[in-house]
Amino acid sequence: MVIGGKWDLSRNSMDLPDYVRDRILSTPVPDIDLEDFLIPTFVDHTGFSLAKVYSHLIAQPQMDLEWLWKSKTEPKIKIVLWLLCCDRIPHKALLALRKITPDSACPRCKHMYEDSIHVIRDYIFSVPV
Ligand SMILES: [Zn+2]
Repeated sequence: MVIGGKWDLSRNSMDLPDYVRDRILSTPVPDIDLEDFLIPTFVDHTGFSLAKVYSHLIAQPQMDLEWLWKSKTEPKIKIVLWLLCCDRIPHKALLALRKITPDSACPRCKHMYEDSIHVIRDYIFSVPV
């Protein structure tokens, strides 16, 4: 649980091994303001089940990118498009979310929020392309 921008494990209902506690406490708290929520399908009488999380994620509808992998273009272009589709281009908003950079502003045009759309469409030098 995050309280006041810091991890608070004192309300945890189960004892965590020290290495898990250390791992949680060393994970940066995201800037986004989301309430904690329990996902009950992942917890049963035996406790949390990573296998259930994995099964749940596998069962989620995935974006159909078969067209991308079958397209006749350079592999590096396929990879960039795949990263764009998954919103995994390392733009400043993503880097700021991961606490790698202190802010999400575009370093080139000083736009307040550099996300995928800004990088490929809205950035002033991307528009002519
Ligand atoms: Zn920019």
